[in-house]
Amino acid sequence: MNLLLIIGTRPNFIKVTRFKEVAAKYPNITLKIAHTGQHYDATMADVFFQQFNLTPDYFLNVGAGSQNFQIADIMLKLEELINTKFKPDLMLVVGDVNSTLAGALTANKLNIKLAHVESGLRSFDETMPEEINRILTDKICNLYFVTEPSGSENLKKEGVQNDKIKFVGNTMIDTLVGFSDKIEQADILEKHNLTKQPYILTTLHRPATVDFEDGLKKLIELFENIAKKYKAVFPIHPRTVANLKKFGLYDKLMQNKNLIITEPLDYFAFQKLIKYSKFIITDSGGIQEESTFLQVPCLTLRNNTERPVTCTEGTNTLVKFDIAEISKLISEIENGTYKKGKVPALWDGHATERIFEALTSA
Ligand code: UDP
Repeated sequence: MNLLLIIGTRPNFIKVTRFKEVAAKYPNITLKIAHTGQHYDATMADVFFQQFNLTPDYFLNVGAGSQNFQIADIMLKLEELINTKFKPDLMLVVGDVNSTLAGALTANKLNIKLAHVESGLRSFDETMPEEINRILTDKICNLYFVTEPSGSENLKKEGVQNDKIKFVGNTMIDTLVGFSDKIEQADILEKHNLTKQPYILTTLHRPATVDFEDGLKKLIELFENIAKKYKAVFPIHPRTVANLKKFGLYDKLMQNKNLIITEPLDYFAFQKLIKYSKFIITDSGGIQEESTFLQVPCLTLRNNTERPVTCTEGTNTLVKFDIAEISKLISEIENGTYKKGKVPALWDGHATERIFEALTSA
């Protein structure tokens, strides 16, 4: 069986670190990985390939451009790859980014079977580009790998046959478990003099949070509040920097002396920061899951989540971007009344193995 796995962004890379290793246990499987180049620079891509010792077999080198340009360019380059270099029996796409959708459409047009890793997640917010990518990908999928029960339920409601839905667990957690020693060895706490200090960790990059001046001003106010008590580490996404500069707010944010602003961090450093933080403030998808696994309180500045198990079972809480509401939750964390959470079913480091078991018995 020839498998072609498509990846393109930071969260994709983090979800596929064990695929080659597990595939190698199956003599009848040839797995090739194509990296679209959607994320391409040193901090958003190269560092992850180095840390995970992951070498994509093909690099499509999609250029920077609009979403339409990127999706179209990926599709054309993937088609060429499939026609001239490697013909898969099945393509695998991951998550909810433009590379996911481009890979799914290419498979459909070339009549190649498609499997989706992290299928069935729904925020029910169609203003999120990721939600559209998820819905469209699942519409043309043949095999659905699901990370949490809501994924299976959503797919069933959308009419997907039961036997095509495989609840396998979370491959992002496979990476956390697989690299736990390396994470522990990271020296990021010492680097920022955080060893004995309670600190918080924050990442914000979703258009709904960082594309508007008002939202960014609130963000600065929030940090001013938090910085009265805590150091806050803020590895800042390129999109957020660009918008802060566009609205003339970057310098104001930089004036906050308790805010440690860094470039996007490598995986080991970032996971170590999650593990030892007092709490997290984020709008990320994946960080809601990692904090749930590590049982660290996570306040997610969004109205919805496509990962509800992180709230119902884990340490995640959705919170409006409202300083009073956020302060209330911070008090609960401080006085020990905030929920403790438990690790969701099958988030055990073996999801990738279960994917291959399902692929070979399908
Ligand atoms: N991440 C990282 N360094 C950072 C910020 C995030 O390694 O500076 C990791 C994070 O732990 C998670 C993934 O990147 O594994 C999430 O990426 P992001 O928040 O960009 O995407 P989302 O999950 O929201 O799609």
